[in-house]
Amino acid sequence: MSGRKFFMNFPVTDTSHALDAYRARGGYQALAKALREQQPADVTKEVSAAGLLGHGGAAFPAGRKWSVIRPDDGEPHYVCMNADEGEPGTFKDRWLLEYVPHMPLEGLILASYAIGGRHAFIYIRGEFDLAYRRIQGAVDEAYAAGLLGENILGTGYALDVVVYRGAGSYVCGEASAMLASLEGKKGWPRNRPPRLTVKGLYQKPTVVNNVETLANVPVILALGAAEFKKTGTPKSPGTQMISISGHVERPGVYEVEYGYSWERFIYDDCGGIQGGRALKCIIPGGVSTKILDANEIKGVTLDHLSAVAAGSQLGSGGMIAVAEGTCMVRLARVIQRFYHHESCGQCTPCREGMGWMERVLDRIVRGDGRPDDIDRLYHISNANDGTTICSLGDSAGYACTAILDHYRDEFEYYIKNGRSMHDGRLAVFDPFDGAVPTPLYAGAGA
Ligand code: SF4
Repeated sequence: MSGRKFFMNFPVTDTSHALDAYRARGGYQALAKALREQQPADVTKEVSAAGLLGHGGAAFPAGRKWSVIRPDDGEPHYVCMNADEGEPGTFKDRWLLEYVPHMPLEGLILASYAIGGRHAFIYIRGEFDLAYRRIQGAVDEAYAAGLLGENILGTGYALDVVVYRGAGSYVCGEASAMLASLEGKKGWPRNRPPRLTVKGLYQKPTVVNNVETLANVPVILALGAAEFKKTGTPKSPGTQMISISGHVERPGVYEVEYGYSWERFIYDDCGGIQGGRALKCIIPGGVSTKILDANEIKGVTLDHLSAVAAGSQLGSGGMIAVAEGTCMVRLARVIQRFYHHESCGQCTPCREGMGWMERVLDRIVRGDGRPDDIDRLYHISNANDGTTICSLGDSAGYACTAILDHYRDEFEYYIKNGRSMHDGRLAVFDPFDGAVPTPLYAGAGA
């Protein structure tokens, strides 16, 4: 592996977020070249040729999404940067927004140029204070430097960017809910089709791309697709930002080349498991992705194909390491409590099902579990499968049943004995009780 890093090679200093620092490292040269020498379709072609996959969770090819929109069809088109990072365990977009905000902003301008957009939006999680100030500051600097507004860099291209702060709803990270919220409506997902690239914001064709996805665009245009693809694997080109929390010695934000060894990442880069304990399992990419136990990551590499072959997904890059001795029943309850709280309530199976699953898990944890509760949890999850508007309903059920699939014996023990098999031995892991550390490290790679 070459170990090329695209983001972490920007040294984090008190001023690394500023326009001067970004320009000193070649920032906005890709934009100047694109506006002066390339047609919008050329930009899309380059991004497609690079094989850039979405970094928000679904890994959908970015170029394919853009290519649905004809830049010259006379319609208004919009690009929205999805900075509503809310998947538990995921905090890598926040790092990009805080330390290199001009990079995703340059990507947003390039994406808007590629699809013929004149207005673009940055929808940012309301709780992100520093990240908001940094990205708003970057937008202000870009206007002052002639990189936004009328006649950008004297090329005749015009673009306005609005930064919009969400109110902290998890489901507003879902693209259709985000656009509804941006329109001033309730942040509710909607059924598709029509796709957002056909009818999105204000019923006009809209591209929604994640922060890290957009941050890759100037890199691709600066290097060229062929050079970009030399990093990573054929099916997952480039790098992936991973935020890791939980029981590793060195939690934080890392950038790894796709195809990097998962075990090497955990045991070498992240320093292994705290206190020399054994790894029990990994939540690979946010709590909506299915857990993998320590054996299941053996020999697996950090890329989309490998993660799927192992039985899960890389998701949003929000990894949580869980040490041996952790009570998986309580962990499942914490996750289910989150989903129940965040269900928007439109779909009966999600609105009611999440509550039922939480109540069943609550009574098991209280010591009042019933012998048929395990079957009941599977039954409720199966009823959600494919019956809801957005994927929250499905994933919430899978998150719980994947834990059940791996650790059924812990649930059976808890129901039979009214207590965890781990009680009195090791601390219970609860991602919401302060166990998620926030220090940021520029680390890893190959
Ligand atoms: Fe809302 Fe849940 Fe339905 Fe998604 S699945 S639209 S979160 S009720």
